[in-house]
Amino acid sequence: MQVVTKIDKMQRICARLKRTGRTIGFVPTMGALHEGHASLVRAARTGNDTAVVSIFVNPLQFGPREDLKKYPRPFAKDARLCRKLGVDFVFHPAPEEMYPQGFGTSVEVAGLSDILEGAVRPGHFRGVATVVAKLFNIVQPDTAYFGQKDAQQAVIIRRMVADMALPVKIKVMPTIREKDGLALSSRNVYLSRRQRQDSLVLSKALGLAQEMVSGGQRNAERVIEKMRALIARKQGVKIDYVAIVDADELAPVARVRDNSLIAVAVRFGRTRLIDNIIVTGLHG
Ligand code: AMP
Repeated sequence: MQVVTKIDKMQRICARLKRTGRTIGFVPTMGALHEGHASLVRAARTGNDTAVVSIFVNPLQFGPREDLKKYPRPFAKDARLCRKLGVDFVFHPAPEEMYPQGFGTSVEVAGLSDILEGAVRPGHFRGVATVVAKLFNIVQPDTAYFGQKDAQQAVIIRRMVADMALPVKIKVMPTIREKDGLALSSRNVYLSRRQRQDSLVLSKALGLAQEMVSGGQRNAERVIEKMRALIARKQGVKIDYVAIVDADELAPVARVRDNSLIAVAVRFGRTRLIDNIIVTGLHG
């Protein structure tokens, strides 16, 4: 496994691989890797000749009051995991390499970027789309792998790829969870014991929604109300949103149906967690 920090070098390596007919599977990450990331890497590893992982804490996608400075950066540990998973190249650029003085271009996916997460985190998805577009140009992947955990991000990346006719296939992989249901996230390390306990309310609220829908409830407002009530029982927890939207368009739905995305974002003190499920298998 090779760690590459320079754009031109990574680009040359990937261009050469492509010329010789080798397929590239790519997993963009911000590091602090866990089993969620590992599942994407395994998919990239088995589905392609070459597996490339980027580890870059992207300053563009953090708001001014967000956790850019304290975001965990255990690079040596991440690199060891990548090696163990059979990754060929880790791309690990410095911020100045990605955004040198004078960097002025941004990619904005209008419409999808200012709702849900985007409403609470203005500019976040502009930062995500910009870095992913640049990474795609550097790595030139055949297939790039994203997690369902960040459902809106996956929708936005798909839209960007379609709009800009980027020659890359997007695969979205299922959310990996702790045994007790908490979706794995690099931010889970911020949680105190108490908050870790309380954080189960996310997957519990989604479970409740699933139960209601399986039981025949189709009224989205009713489901949202019950979820909110369950979450609000925890002290010191702030709900950013509970939403039921179409999983592809992200437009709110009045009635829950197949392919509805049920998404929650909750703050535990200064730590913000998100989770979601997609409704499937409904009959009418
Ligand atoms: P991040 O490092 O947080 O930017 O995440 C990198 C990629 O890993 C994104 O595509 C995420 O959606 C994905 N990811 C993060 N957590 C999980 C998880 N628990 N299960 C599956 N994929 C995940």
